[in-house]
Amino acid sequence: MDSHAMTIDGRADTDSGAALDVANPATGEVFAQVPQCDRQQLDEACAAAERAYRPWRADDAGRRRALSRMADVLERAATSLARMLTQEQGKPLAEARTEIARSALWLRYYADLDIPREVTSNDAGDRVEIVRRPLGVVAAIAPWNFPLLLAVRKIAPALRAGNTVVLKPSPYTPLTTLAFGALVRDDLPPGVLNIVSGPEPLGAWLVSHPVPRKVSFTGSTATGMKVAAAAATGLKHITLELGGNDPAIVLPDADPDHIADSLFWSAFRNNGQVCAAVKRVYAHERIQGRLLDALTARARAVRVGDGLDETTELGPLSNPPQLGRVHELVKDALAHGATAVTGGRPLHQPGYFFAPTILSAPPGALRIVDEEQFGPALPVVPYQDLEEAIFLANAGEYGLTASVWSSDGDRAAKAASALECGQVTVNAHATSICPSLPFGGHKRSGIGVENGPWGLHEFTGLQVLPCPAA
Ligand code: NAD
Repeated sequence: MDSHAMTIDGRADTDSGAALDVANPATGEVFAQVPQCDRQQLDEACAAAERAYRPWRADDAGRRRALSRMADVLERAATSLARMLTQEQGKPLAEARTEIARSALWLRYYADLDIPREVTSNDAGDRVEIVRRPLGVVAAIAPWNFPLLLAVRKIAPALRAGNTVVLKPSPYTPLTTLAFGALVRDDLPPGVLNIVSGPEPLGAWLVSHPVPRKVSFTGSTATGMKVAAAAATGLKHITLELGGNDPAIVLPDADPDHIADSLFWSAFRNNGQVCAAVKRVYAHERIQGRLLDALTARARAVRVGDGLDETTELGPLSNPPQLGRVHELVKDALAHGATAVTGGRPLHQPGYFFAPTILSAPPGALRIVDEEQFGPALPVVPYQDLEEAIFLANAGEYGLTASVWSSDGDRAAKAASALECGQVTVNAHATSICPSLPFGGHKRSGIGVENGPWGLHEFTGLQVLPCPAA
């Protein structure tokens, strides 16, 4: 049984009364344990982050160097970390390697990002400087679908801006994040990055702890609302990256055979457990049948299995509640007029596997269309005219990302601009998620953004100072 340590004040902390089991979703078997952080350890982590804050804030060059070294460390350990990530999360090894590589990319981006001085004048004509000051201690909370990357998307800009961090990974997937903390422990001053593990209410304790001045949260909309309410009590800054129910609109001039592969992977990558994934397709009624055939052929050909097998393309669902949720929504769809063209049920084997599912969905209300299913099941709904498709795509509480698929670029771009969300792409989905571009949801998909200078700004407050002589 592997056991892992938390990082508190630059030390490995395994001293925990109770251990939390971590299961491999491909087998359902527990293979590792992590500490369950208690209130006293959380206090220690927050106090350490507070002590480390002022010297860290003052050392701009040191912060850049530390982020670069963290990227180097990740790249050197990529093979073992990718294996660990697959074992705890279920994704195929190739995707785990990509997640580690992208985490390093984010660290390098922020290591290299300048925080420019802005100089302007006040009413009296005196030159003043507007500076971005860090906020203090950041509470960072991550989900289980991209455990390391989504943690690094907080750590990198928070640290670059001069904050210190207490990070809490999901109790389903704490291992890679704890291992990362252990690997970079010597590259950071004690207390700058503290990583604590455990089941709820650890996240709730962290959000309501008096020390953090900022909460950066990625997870479901339901939890995000609780986080916002708790953060409001302490008047804390928040960034919330929440759920999505992304639509893809397929125009009648699209070629189903041509787009099927890309559309399929836009929905099924990481087994559909991606916030910015296609979760409902609106296909023009003239091509819905051909699109269903093309997507079904793709779904039937996909290799489902243990992510540690290099030939696997789709792993298991990540945890039992997620498997249960997908099954419940698919059963509900089948009971209300949808047809499973392929799949539609869990696979009878150890682990949390669900057959890749393509649903022909009738127009009208259906839970799997209206709610975020976050799994390998894709409803394809027919529409008659584009206005109707845009109305349906904009319906509902989410507004994360969306896509339009067509052979006419101008027509697709016009439809794209009518969609209410944080990012729209044409003939691809969510391909503009990169370190330099803002990413965030509209409506109940979130508050604020991550990435780019905009993401860094979320970890700062503005201050007007007299301009030093040139
Ligand atoms: P979740 O909301 O259940 O949990 C997210 C994190 O919050 C976990 O670490 C959990 O332990 C913690 N948590 C739970 N209750 C808390 C509380 N009361 N206070 C503080 N923290 C608490 O979400 P999940 O199931 O881990 O992740 C899936 C969800 O995340 C999906 O809805 C998905 O769309 C969303 N997500 C969004 C983005 C984005 O960038 N918008 C990215 C990835 C995932």
